[in-house]
Amino acid sequence: WESKVEGKVVVVTGASSGIGEAVARLLAAQGARVVLGARRVDRLETIVREIAAAGGQALAHAVDVTKREEVQALVAAAVDQFGRIDVMINNAGAMFLSPLAADAVDDWDRMIDVNIKGVLYGVSAALPRFLAQGSGHLINVSSVAGHASFAGAGVYCGTKFAVRAISEAFRQEVGPNIRSTIISPGAVQSELASHVTDPGMIAMMDQLMAIAIPAEAVAQAVLYAVRQPAAVDVNEILVRPTGQT
Ligand code: NDP
Repeated sequence: WESKVEGKVVVVTGASSGIGEAVARLLAAQGARVVLGARRVDRLETIVREIAAAGGQALAHAVDVTKREEVQALVAAAVDQFGRIDVMINNAGAMFLSPLAADAVDDWDRMIDVNIKGVLYGVSAALPRFLAQGSGHLINVSSVAGHASFAGAGVYCGTKFAVRAISEAFRQEVGPNIRSTIISPGAVQSELASHVTDPGMIAMMDQLMAIAIPAEAVAQAVLYAVRQPAAVDVNEILVRPTGQT
């Protein structure tokens, strides 16, 4: 009943650490041909070497998702190398937490650029290919923070609400053979929280990260959506630690 993951061409942004890295490793281990994008290309190359040593197929490609032409080039690299793109995973993200009164406007801009515009550039690069092929699968990483907003995280939550809004419109607009999945994780072990500098929010994140689950758990959710038969569209998966409120 389940369709094969083997041979699918999968592009993953933010694949140099955390959830994106875990997704790339798991899908490659299942026989997908994976193109890993992020800015830290040295880390991507190490992961690709390890995937290849384990018998998988992968390609590293430097990308800053805030640059439209670089996201286009990432998808073009996948098509050049492997002939098509079956799954586009917009996973790259940034989280800088502080109350609005802290007026961290540069952080707001960076989150909007990576978390919203980066996802849109991914749609822009992949959708024409999906339409030309007559099939494709868009996977956007939102968050539990895309379902409820909380103090100190208004802009981050706003970007993750936006990801869900964009994904739902995509789902309604595209034809029957193009799938759309939102992955909404709760607290997950990764580098994400290490970029928070506001003392009050660091304390809050420390508490949350104490119960965080491994990125592998989210990768399993992605695998579930990818391996469903073509007629089955898994629209959203929320996965969070037991005990996260
Ligand atoms: P990490 O910080 O470990 O990974 C973030 C990834 O995004 C890195 O690979 C980073 O690579 C990449 N990235 C950041 N900015 C850019 C950019 N401008 N261009 C390209 N790549 C970029 O965190 P996670 O793995 O946790 O985050 C992955 C996704 O999961 C994010 O969208 C995040 O919001 C979401 N999420 C995470 C949760 C958690 O608790 N960890 C909970 C809910 C959602 P590089 O720096 O090399 O470019």
